[in-house]
Amino acid sequence: MNLLLSEEQKLLQQTLRTFVDKEIRPHAAEIDRERRFPVENVRRCADMSLMGIMVPQEHGGSGMDALSYTIVIEELSRACATTGVIVSVNNSLVCAPLLAYGSKEQKEKYLKPLAAGEMLGCFALTEPNAGSDAAALRTRAEKKGRDYLLSGNKVFVTNGTAADVALVFASTDLSKKHKGISAFIVESGFPGFRRGREERKLGITASGSREIVLDRCQVPAANLLGAEGEGLKIALSTLDGGRVGIAAQAVGIAQAVLDEGIRYSQQRVQFGKPISEFQAIQWMLADIATETEAARLLTYRAARAEESQQRYSYEASVAKLFASETAMRAATKGVQILGGYGYVSDYPMERYFRDAKVTEIYEGTSEIQRLVIAEHVLKDGAS
Ligand SMILES: Cc1cc2nc3c(=O)[nH]c(=O)nc-3n(C[C@H](O)[C@H](O)[C@H](O)COP(=O)(O)OP(=O)(O)OC[C@H]3O[C@@H](n4cnc5c(N)ncnc54)[C@H](O)[C@@H]3O)c2cc1C
Repeated sequence: MNLLLSEEQKLLQQTLRTFVDKEIRPHAAEIDRERRFPVENVRRCADMSLMGIMVPQEHGGSGMDALSYTIVIEELSRACATTGVIVSVNNSLVCAPLLAYGSKEQKEKYLKPLAAGEMLGCFALTEPNAGSDAAALRTRAEKKGRDYLLSGNKVFVTNGTAADVALVFASTDLSKKHKGISAFIVESGFPGFRRGREERKLGITASGSREIVLDRCQVPAANLLGAEGEGLKIALSTLDGGRVGIAAQAVGIAQAVLDEGIRYSQQRVQFGKPISEFQAIQWMLADIATETEAARLLTYRAARAEESQQRYSYEASVAKLFASETAMRAATKGVQILGGYGYVSDYPMERYFRDAKVTEIYEGTSEIQRLVIAEHVLKDGAS
């Protein structure tokens, strides 16, 4: 029973479940095994108007609220966490900052096709020596006439394999440190843009995590997003929304673990009865269910906070921290419930286990979420 969703949101959830069961779930194991970026899933999600969920319809999106967005990401991730993050990145990390900071022309040229799923976006902040400490980035942006020339290496870029547009963060003046960082809309066809090495990963193996190499990449000055020097502010505010999406992804993975744990334990017979009749198994299922419900509530709360138009970094970090650690704890128990069958790829549990881990790492590690949360409670007290 879900008392928190409107009738419209319940209908969206039901529609998503039908869509995901038919179009996404059947391919999840295969794309994971093949480590193949699922362009067909992007197309399917675009056909369902899921690539710009919170973008107003006049800009090519679906005009839904943040809570509806979390419902979509949870349902996609419950079937395929790779597809969940691909869609989440396009929505939260590319469409959202273009909507918030883009000029009229940028919205027309980039936001519209990105939200409609005619283009795919990626977010290129991390560098080999600038991960949690994003302000230490070294990619340079040198103004040359009516262009900027961008030079540097971005790593771990989700969707990097297939993206048409990258939101790239670079410094126009390294001596200004974080105040020198700006955001640029970079087309993959611009001279000097090259896709580098693709990472081989533990989980979400098909999300196209790619290095992006910028070699005096020529970017028109009109593609500066926001003002010069506003880049870090854009990145950090964007990541608040991204964290709500990753929290929803983690809830989806935890729910998938519970679904599979219930199904398997009722079927598997040892000592003459289904293992679901052993209290040890029941307690694991009860813990997974309880924590997943709590993570979902925190994620819904963060989505509501996002809609309030006030700062919601605290709510986003609390939800992301708790949901990601819930997914990991749930998956650890899930593998245990399946015993040896939880450890082999004939069953989806080992994929859930591998996929859960990254939710504790990307868009700010658990340690970084704790820093944000501690800073908030020490300054403003508990909410
Ligand atoms: C699959 C995947 C997809 C990704 N997608 C993207 C993407 O699309 N775009 C993008 O820009 N980036 C992306 N990233 C990068 C991701 O955001 C970074 O990996 C993450 O921010 C951590 O940075 P790091 O890996 O350099 O670790 P580091 O920052 O080197 O951290 C190493 C360890 O030190 C800890 N640590 C660091 N600083 C502190 C501190 N101040 N206090 C306490 N502990 C600390 C960390 O929590 C961690 O445990 C992705 C990463 C992965 C794995």
